[in-house]
Amino acid sequence: MNPRSTRKTITEPARHIDVTREADVVVVGGGPGGIGSALAAARSGADTVLVERYGHLGGMATGGLVTIIPNLSDISGEQQITGICQELVDRLDARGATHYPKKADWGSADEKLVQYYIDAKLDWFYIRNDLNIGRKRVLYTALIDPEIMKCELNTMMEEVGVKLYLHSWGVRPIVEGNTVKGVIIENKSGRQAILAKVVIDSTGDGDLLQPAGAECDIRMMAGLRIAAFAFPFWIGNVDMKKLEDFRASRPKQWDALVQELESRGGAFFYMKDLVKNHDGVVWFHPFFPSTDQSDIHEINRVELEGRKKMLLSYEFYRDRVPGFENSYIALSSPQLGTQGGQRVVGEYVCSAGDMTSDEVFEDTIAIFPDNDNEEISAEHPNVCIPYRALVPKKVDGLLVACRAFSSEYQFNEYFNLIPHCIAFGQAAGTAAAMAADSGIRPRDVNYSALQRNLIRQGVKLPSS
Ligand SMILES: Cc1cc2nc3c(=O)[nH]c(=O)nc-3n(C[C@H](O)[C@H](O)[C@H](O)COP(=O)(O)OP(=O)(O)OC[C@H]3O[C@@H](n4cnc5c(N)ncnc54)[C@H](O)[C@@H]3O)c2cc1C
Repeated sequence: MNPRSTRKTITEPARHIDVTREADVVVVGGGPGGIGSALAAARSGADTVLVERYGHLGGMATGGLVTIIPNLSDISGEQQITGICQELVDRLDARGATHYPKKADWGSADEKLVQYYIDAKLDWFYIRNDLNIGRKRVLYTALIDPEIMKCELNTMMEEVGVKLYLHSWGVRPIVEGNTVKGVIIENKSGRQAILAKVVIDSTGDGDLLQPAGAECDIRMMAGLRIAAFAFPFWIGNVDMKKLEDFRASRPKQWDALVQELESRGGAFFYMKDLVKNHDGVVWFHPFFPSTDQSDIHEINRVELEGRKKMLLSYEFYRDRVPGFENSYIALSSPQLGTQGGQRVVGEYVCSAGDMTSDEVFEDTIAIFPDNDNEEISAEHPNVCIPYRALVPKKVDGLLVACRAFSSEYQFNEYFNLIPHCIAFGQAAGTAAAMAADSGIRPRDVNYSALQRNLIRQGVKLPSS
């Protein structure tokens, strides 16, 4: 029982629910994991349904205002994350809705070039220290326009015939024995059932896992990035030149302002939006530590505290910091920023040891650059992800393609980001379609056939 509940209980009456649809694959959650899953399943020939509780797709990458797709290349500049993630960047690029360093610059340690990015205050996104050479290098990371991305994602789903249920919550898996057979959804039309041969949990929080009987790892360590909510907001119409001139010419005055705002509980750290025509927009991502980001009381606390912090910070900047005089709050994140939570216990559990093992698994479905891990990154620039990390140990008919993939928190901290979840989705969606087509369990999908299909879709794997 939730410790904050009253001790009273009631019994819900049993009721018959309409089966609104039968599909091959149903994906619950339309964030990075869900879009990869739905696109890959539908493109592999599966009749696919995608259920999303909000009115748009993209999850944190759009509604959460987390518009940075990082670490597509390793530190040497070689691109490792490709597939649907790269396709998305290409499609946004064609609409002028992304920003990234030129391909010729990826991996460069040229001092002038690196200095160019630092001077333009782009280093936080695009520059990492390479301890092997004792110098900084340029990375391939892409920034995106979230509104164009929402539109483009709808188009992509439409092109391949994914049936969308927006404004619909996936509330419970339908389970027979140890096999998931579909999902119950709830929306303005009431409660309905969707039956499926394979269900993919892409809710980020792993909402379907425990009700499906899957074992979960709820351990979390305070202080980690993933042990914090965030309340992102954007301030627009900032005179960037005036702001940057002020910071460069009056560093002590700037430091004093930062200290004062911090002591008053405000958010001072901002990032400059670089996407075309977003001049004068700065982003704030204040964090709110929490080790239980699916607790409704915690969610409410952060919504309320986040908005107070936003107003306090905005008014301070507007009244005290040159460049912000005519600024306004352009947007506060429609989706509260959640960064981590329970993870499924899968056929394989990715652990801290995997960051230093250089193991190439027989069921590798993705290669992820590890650019943010200091000495470990220098010695082990990439890690491989096995398909088994998406397959729950005890439950059939279910795959997990989101930040709730099977991992210890030490590993999840570095590899639950947007490009990673899209890659999990691409593998899970492809495997789900294969399982549905052959009438087999997702855990029995042939690894080599899955890898061949992923390579055909443009995914980079060790064997490609
Ligand atoms: C402030 C902040 C900064 C970050 N910085 C970066 C960064 O720079 N780069 C980066 O790559 N990553 C970053 N991340 C992490 C990244 O955003 C997430 O790890 C990633 O989005 C996880 O993808 P996901 O698909 O697992 O979950 P989400 O993005 O959370 O998507 C889950 C989707 O499922 C939907 N959903 C949830 N439950 C249900 C349900 N029961 N029924 C129906 N729909 C449901 C949600 O509405 C959402 O659309 C950051 C996160 C935050 C909060």
